[in-house]
Order: sequence, then C-alpha cells, then structure tokens
Amino acid sequence: NAATTKTDPEVVRKMIPYFSDIYGNPSSLHGIGQKAKEAIEHSRAIAAEFINASPDEIIFTGSGTESDNLAIKGAAYANNLKKHIITSAIEHHAVLESCHNLEKSGFKISYIPVDNNGRIKIKELKKAISKNTLLISVMHANNEIGTIQPVKEIGKIARENNICFHMDAVQTFGHLNIDVEEIGVDLLSASAHKLYGPKGVGLLYKRKGVKINPLINGGSQEGSLRASTENVPGIVGFAKAIELSKNLMENENAVQAHLRDKFIQGVLENIENVFLNGHPVNRLPNNINFSFDFIEGEAILIGLDIEGIAVSTGSACSSGSMEPSYVIKATGRSSVLARGSVRFSLGRFNTEDEIDFTLETLINLVKRLRKISPLIS
Ligand code: PLP
Repeated sequence: NAATTKTDPEVVRKMIPYFSDIYGNPSSLHGIGQKAKEAIEHSRAIAAEFINASPDEIIFTGSGTESDNLAIKGAAYANNLKKHIITSAIEHHAVLESCHNLEKSGFKISYIPVDNNGRIKIKELKKAISKNTLLISVMHANNEIGTIQPVKEIGKIARENNICFHMDAVQTFGHLNIDVEEIGVDLLSASAHKLYGPKGVGLLYKRKGVKINPLINGGSQEGSLRASTENVPGIVGFAKAIELSKNLMENENAVQAHLRDKFIQGVLENIENVFLNGHPVNRLPNNINFSFDFIEGEAILIGLDIEGIAVSTGSACSSGSMEPSYVIKATGRSSVLARGSVRFSLGRFNTEDEIDFTLETLINLVKRLRKISPLIS
C-alpha cells in the first residue's frame, strides 16, 4: 500500500465513460472536447479545495516523480541568480536524482542528515541556508519508514528566509490533512495511485507567484507548464479518489493505526533481535518497518510472498549484490540491519484477520530463517 494501492472500484466506475463516451480532446472546441475540459476543471477544483488552494494553483502531471522533477528543476531553471538547494538525505529517488542532475549543471545541493527516528536535523538545515539558497525540498512523510517531518517548522524557516519550500506529499496526500496555508508550502507533489486512484497521474500545487520553468514543451495545456493532451480518465479518477479519501480518511487512519500498533506490539513481544525503524509516534498510520537481525530482508519478502503476503524491502539489487537501504542507513543503522529491513504497509482493504495471519506467518518464518542463517555463528 506504500508502493501502490488498489484502484478503488468506485474510482474505476467514474473513469470508464471518459475512455469511451466523453473521449474528446479537452483542447477541442466541439461539445465532446469541451465536456472533457469541464471534467478536468471540475477535478482541479476538487484537488485544490482538498489542500486549501485555488484551482489555478493545481497542475496535473503524469506522476509523483514528474511533479518532483517539475518542482525542483522547474524552480531551479526559473531562477537565474541563486544556485543552492537544500534537501534531506532520505528523500525519494525522484527528488534525489533531480538534485543530482542539477549538480551536473552547476547547482550546489545540501543533503541534510536525519536523526535516529528519521526526522530531519533542523539545526543543520538552518545552518545550510545561504543567500544563494533558492529552494528547500523536504518530504512530508518518508515512503520507507513512515516518519513524518516537522513540515510546519520547515515552512516557517523557508518563509523567514524568503526561500521557496517544496514538499513531496506523495505518501501523505489523501492520508493526512494538508493545508498549504497552514504549512506554508509553495510547491507540493502528489500522486493518484497512492490513494486508491489510477497510476500515471499526479499533480503539482504551485503557489500563485512562484516561478517555475516547464520541463515538457509543446501546447498550452496546464497553463503552459505541462504540455501534453491531458489524461482525462486519470484526472477524473484522481478527483474521485480524493473525494473518497476526504470522507474515509479519518476513520481509515484510526483503524490502520490500531492494526499497525497491534502488529508492532505482536512482533516486539514474539520476535527477538528486531528493531522498529522510523519514528515511534510521528509516523504514517499505515507504516510498519522492522529490521530483523541475522536475516536478509529479501528472505522474509520471499517467504511471506509464498503465503500471499506482499511486503517490501528498501534494499535495491544492483549488479547482483544487495545495496542496503540508504534511508535506514541514514537513521544510523548498520548495513546488516539495513539489509534486514522489511516494510509492511496497510491499506483500505486490509482486515484484522489478515494482520493476525501476517503476524503468525512472520513469527514462524523468522524462526525458520534464523535456524539456517549463516549470519548466526
Ligand atoms: N515520492 C515519494 C515519497 C514516493 O513514495 C513515490 C512513489 O513511490 C514517488 C515520489 C514517486 O511517485 P510516482 O510513483 O507517482 O512516480
């Protein structure tokens, strides 16, 4: 559910007519085109209202990744004078790789470290600010460990220093309350497939007056900031997903936080040498991330998958060897513990029975794997 969610059946139902009946190009002047255009503008209003923004501050994109790229590179290229960006060490690749790319064009990037719970070190962030800083990009909550960042505090610091603040809200949009005025955010990325909407559609909130350059040139769609014929069914589906989240979010969060805490307690009580990653309290209601000593995360992933339980590990396989998760390492864990990390993420369609079954399966699996682990002498 952190990697992606099942598209809600109500979202699918809402999208279907926009493939077959109202299939017009929103730039066309005939009736069927204008109906598609109206659907986009209605969706834009829904997205804007959800975060206390105005409709003309919403740009629909093709993904969260694209929104991050557009925010960071767009802001960097629109600013001729300043050449410094501040971000955190545990951002998603969409942010980190955008920053790496800018480094090649002469921009200087400060990657601020995090504490043991994954919270950004505010003192270090403040120290990194210079006259040359054009942007601070910090995520709302981390996708691996679920830690929620002190974004209001960061927004205040950015504002006091006249720096633009971008927040990657891909993991929180539709899950936590977001008010762009309250946080003081200038650019915000979101993605539909993380809130039971379709894949391949995202949005960027851009505060009025904030300057960014487009990355895709062509027609004048999306205020000339994202040329391309719009993904009408995707945008309509995104808006429907937002409406559902608005109604269900509070209750879902309470249910998931209860299941999360039950699962965490069950693991800590029944498995030895296991460590909870991320913040004990300031974390996403649906995120659980544990490091298991003496076992590779992949072994747990495969063992659970056989039982029909889908989890993930932050480790990435590059050239045949397992790279430990950079996020878990940034919180101070050893490479071995980072390799032994597993993320369990809960969602709208999970039941308490599934959580109980997962816990029981995990306890038995860890016992079996530790018996054969070469890491235990
Ligand atoms: N940022 C964060 C924090 C994410 O979790 C993700 C998705 O995994 C992305 C950005 C990228 O979003 P998308 O999959 O829509 O490109």
